[in-house]
Amino acid sequence: MIHPVAVIGAGPFGLSTAAHLRARGVPVRVFGEPMVSWRDHMPEGMLLKSTPAASTIDAPQRGHTLLDYCDAAGIPRLVTDEDIIPVETFIAYGEWFQQKLVPELERVRVVSVDRKAGRGRSGGSGGSARPGPDESADGFELKLDSGELFTARAVVVATGLSGLDHLPPELASVAADGPTPTGPVSHSSQHHDLSRFSGKELIVVGAGQSALETAALAAEAGARVRVVARGRGAVDFGAPPWNQPRLRPESPFGRAWSLWALSYYPQPYRHLPARARHYLVRRVLGPLGAWWLRDRFEGKVEVREVRRIVRAQVREGSPVLTVRTHEGRAEELLADHVVAATGYRVDIAAMDFLGHELRTELAVSRGTPRLGAGYRSSVRGLYFTGLPAAASYGPVMRFVCGTEFASPRLTGHLAAAHR
Ligand SMILES: Cc1cc2nc3c(=O)[nH]c(=O)nc-3n(C[C@H](O)[C@H](O)[C@H](O)COP(=O)(O)OP(=O)(O)OC[C@H]3O[C@@H](n4cnc5c(N)ncnc54)[C@H](O)[C@@H]3O)c2cc1C
Repeated sequence: MIHPVAVIGAGPFGLSTAAHLRARGVPVRVFGEPMVSWRDHMPEGMLLKSTPAASTIDAPQRGHTLLDYCDAAGIPRLVTDEDIIPVETFIAYGEWFQQKLVPELERVRVVSVDRKAGRGRSGGSGGSARPGPDESADGFELKLDSGELFTARAVVVATGLSGLDHLPPELASVAADGPTPTGPVSHSSQHHDLSRFSGKELIVVGAGQSALETAALAAEAGARVRVVARGRGAVDFGAPPWNQPRLRPESPFGRAWSLWALSYYPQPYRHLPARARHYLVRRVLGPLGAWWLRDRFEGKVEVREVRRIVRAQVREGSPVLTVRTHEGRAEELLADHVVAATGYRVDIAAMDFLGHELRTELAVSRGTPRLGAGYRSSVRGLYFTGLPAAASYGPVMRFVCGTEFASPRLTGHLAAAHR
């Protein structure tokens, strides 16, 4: 019997991977809530930082770009770098893509993935991600939250941001049961409707687009907002398209040689020393607001750039942040609530749907899976794409446009190795 390939995830990366597998004639089962990170874990009214050219979900056939969706839906075309994409449009595009190319999507959760009993294995903890001698021997047993158990010949993990929200330890100490919108501290991924902060004092920690846009949207909803960011000059905005340097090559993220190389040639990235790879994933395309956000932010949101946040406490039910200023003084900042827009961190240990045995067997580097050619991990038949692949294939994997490089390569490798 030919077992299907399981794709776990129905965000841009999972949908793109599934569309490519189907086009290659590979039997596939796809699981997840379509576009849920965008619908439930990003603020209503958000605008995408990425340009229309960098916001297409890669498909094997023509006719499925963001622009094609605009034409099909009869909405104004999003074409130039000055056209800004509302999150609602992007969600509708993802759902349209899913209905056309992945219609058999199963909206259930995968509860567990384990190696099928009695099969061989490759590598070991810390082993290489090179293909083993018997590529097609392994299989996996998956359990769904519907109670169904089934066997997959290979598994693609495309679970994106799910469960990877990061809270720095100095904030985590006041959120003993985890961050929550009704407690003193939450994570930015827990907010969809920011109008709950109307009339409140809000602190947003962070300096990336998510922090700055959350702050602007909350201020527009009637909150008094302060952004607390580490480092002098931490809060800044990118150059508008008409001010990009003309003599440098174009990339989905702006004009620069480094961005061009990282966007179009991620293949050699995994051969860089681990230190460089992890550093670049964190720093390239790091904290910077979108050019169009500046006017909505400046003068409406207060900015406190500090040397560091020392600790957070709760006093009379409200959070108090103690910060170290650049002058070396300790200062207390009070608010009704603190939103930590402190991003996401890949950690295999947090992907608890992967069985304990698989997680201990996977070769990892600083908590991220070490991937070889074709996005394969050190466990035969187990592949990762999207954010968990960024430490191997570079910062482009953190963005939708990374599907263009990842999906054809992953599915090409998988189709050849697991016939
Ligand atoms: C505030 C914010 C703004 C952003 N703006 C942009 C932008 O402008 N442009 C851009 O390119 N990128 C942007 N990003 C990054 C963007 O979120 C990612 O590039 C993209 O969503 C990654 O897609 P994905 O398919 O890997 O994962 P996700 O979109 O996170 O999808 C994860 C999928 O996995 C499924 N899933 C998880 N666990 C399970 C399970 N156990 N069983 C079954 N299914 C499961 C979920 O249901 C979901 O379908 C932004 C991110 C944030 C936080």
